[in-house]
Amino acid sequence: MEKITINYNETVDLGRSLAKEFIGFKEQKKGALIIALKGDLGAGKTTFMQGFAKGLQIKDNLLSPTFIIFNRYSLKLDKFKNLYHFDCYRIEREEEIINLEFDEIISNKENIVCIEWPENIEKLIPEESIFVSFDILEGDKRKITINYGKR
Ligand code: ADP
Ligand code: MG
Repeated sequence: MEKITINYNETVDLGRSLAKEFIGFKEQKKGALIIALKGDLGAGKTTFMQGFAKGLQIKDNLLSPTFIIFNRYSLKLDKFKNLYHFDCYRIEREEEIINLEFDEIISNKENIVCIEWPENIEKLIPEESIFVSFDILEGDKRKITINYGKR
């Protein structure tokens, strides 16, 4: 699926409206629901996440975890209890994130795990994730492409 947004608010709204749909993707798998968000700096990954968090009924403001690598938010949904928001921009080697108990986090099926800069930990991202790619078009336009279970 491909969407064009023309400003910040539309990307927030898209994230919010996709929250339900993304949750539904996860029936068949063992581990966490994983959402990989690819795109250049400023492409809108964190903006999308702000809407996505709202769609999951998170009341807190979602902040970019660039300097701390990840944040956790509690969820009160039937299937999911935690939203993890990773930003792997500063990760250079897979081992760095393994040390943050990444394995444990992605094997818990009560977790939704969203990952900015998944390229930096590519080998650790399962095939059956949701892949969201952000492309910067002219001006404030962004092209947002969603693929379920394939890169
Ligand atoms: P990323 O996390 O991909 O680095 P951010 O979401 O933090 O990007 O930043 C996106 C920036 O681009 C924000 O400053 C936002 O206001 C701006 N922007 C302009 N147009 C859009 C759009 N259509 N969607 C999302 N952000 C947009
Ligand atoms: Mg970001």
